[in-house]
Amino acid sequence: MGTPYAAFITLVVTSGVFNVLMGIYVLFGRTNFAGKRVFFAINLLSAVYIFGAALELGAGSLEEIKFWIQIEYIGMPYLPPLELVLVLIYLGFEKQIRRPFVIALLLVPAATMLLMWTNDAHHFFYRSLELRDDTPMLRVNAAGGPWYTIYGAYNCACMMGAVILLLRGWSRLKAYRRQLFSMLIGVLLPLVGDFAYLFGMTPEGIDPIPVLMSVTSAMYLWALTSTGLFNVVPIARDRLFESMNDGVLVCDLELRLVDYNSAAAALMPELTSAAIGHRLEAVWALHTDEPLRLSDDPARLSNGGIGGETQDVREIGWRVGEQEDYYLVRRSFIRTRRGQAAGMLLVMTTITERRRLQEELKELAYYDGLTKIYNRLQFFRLSKALLAETNRSGEPLSIVLFDIDYFKRINDEHGHETGDRALQHIVQLSRRVLRTEDVFARYGGEEFVVAMPGLTLEQAGQAALRIRRELAGHPLAGPRGELAITASFGVAQAMSAADTVEQLLRQADHALYRSKHSGRNTVHLIAEGVEARELAG
Ligand code: GH3
Ligand code: MG
Ligand code: MG
Repeated sequence: MGTPYAAFITLVVTSGVFNVLMGIYVLFGRTNFAGKRVFFAINLLSAVYIFGAALELGAGSLEEIKFWIQIEYIGMPYLPPLELVLVLIYLGFEKQIRRPFVIALLLVPAATMLLMWTNDAHHFFYRSLELRDDTPMLRVNAAGGPWYTIYGAYNCACMMGAVILLLRGWSRLKAYRRQLFSMLIGVLLPLVGDFAYLFGMTPEGIDPIPVLMSVTSAMYLWALTSTGLFNVVPIARDRLFESMNDGVLVCDLELRLVDYNSAAAALMPELTSAAIGHRLEAVWALHTDEPLRLSDDPARLSNGGIGGETQDVREIGWRVGEQEDYYLVRRSFIRTRRGQAAGMLLVMTTITERRRLQEELKELAYYDGLTKIYNRLQFFRLSKALLAETNRSGEPLSIVLFDIDYFKRINDEHGHETGDRALQHIVQLSRRVLRTEDVFARYGGEEFVVAMPGLTLEQAGQAALRIRRELAGHPLAGPRGELAITASFGVAQAMSAADTVEQLLRQADHALYRSKHSGRNTVHLIAEGVEARELAG
């Protein structure tokens, strides 16, 4: 027995021992990971194969060699499909892998094992198995039969399946690329060894696979156990990231896109995997005016992030096509362990619904629901501000108050709905007369008020007359013909800086009262200390 040959046997045996140790480590160690049982099965079957191969190398006759090959086939055929299962589990398809699927995968290996054992009877697996005379040691020359081809093709298919799955995971599981790479090597190594062996590229026709198998197992073991926090379910991080409703974007400091989830892709239809590695600013600017770059001005960053990380939180408008939405954008630096900024994390949460509610509340707080003009409260706010302003500027400010005549009758005779329509009608007509600077509000049920900056009592009275004329000229069209609507007006003007809006309203109300009493559908002006007088028009 030549020394290199003995050394190789030692190497094979060592490989087998290494494999057994890994199996023990996985079975009895504290490590836990998805696919642990499958990995253990692979290891066990690998060990059977490796020791069979070691003993085949030391065999003294063709019969002995045949016997050890039979032992090898207890393990070897099952390895490629089980590796495929392991890769599937690693990539997160654990739930989808059912027992019948695994059993189906193992049918070809089981058939291979049986056909190998019974080969002498049918030569379906090996057409012939003869001793070689070109090697110093006892080696066999095997000529494959029909099943040998099927077996080889099946192994290749399983391994290629695993390779394709790992490559497909490459872009999806960016955080696990080192692990995917390690598994890829694990899958490819025996394949490469197999080709080298088949094409006679190994010294003295030695089959390197028994040695490579332990390397393969080690590559798998590292990948499976080094997945960190989520090693029990390696895919958890990815699933979590993907299932988030919030759009998440990760950029480096040059604002090149590093990673994003599908919610973010939905916000930016331009984002494809091709965008990774490219600067995000241009795509970002298509949707919002808010700059992408996170200011490192500490004053702009609040200390609200996870782990006390400072973050910038703001509400931004976001356009996608015609649609404008609102998002809460939280931006923070991603730091290295030493605290150096390495990138930026953006989390975008939709707040469109909240914005809509806010708008609705604002609407309710400021405006009258039926006529959409200001409500009484907002009238007081705005007219007080106007009064203060006109007091300062010395400009006049007048107030017109008007009340629909016999409105109860409209309600009674034509129904409340027509009454409502009448109110909207009156608002529409009044608007034709009013200027943008006038503050027009629904003062009460069917009472309206206008604050008119810059107008004297007389001028405001003229505006009131114009409203009166509009009403007279445009009766409300109803189901039972036209409905004439009139109103009575009272006008007052702020005369001194001491006047308040409440005082003005009291005066205007007094003038309005006079309009009602003088037969309605008239305008009365009131000046301080003077009796209200009718303005003819
Ligand atoms: P006057 O000429 O003296 O003003 O007679 P009037 O019938 O208008 O009397 P008054 O101002 O007291 O009547 C107010 C009526 O307006 C009572 C109420 O039923 C009706 N009203 C108040 N708010 C609304 C509303 O939002 N819609 C409808 N349809 N009617 C309302
Ligand atoms: Mg009335
Ligand atoms: Mg009234």
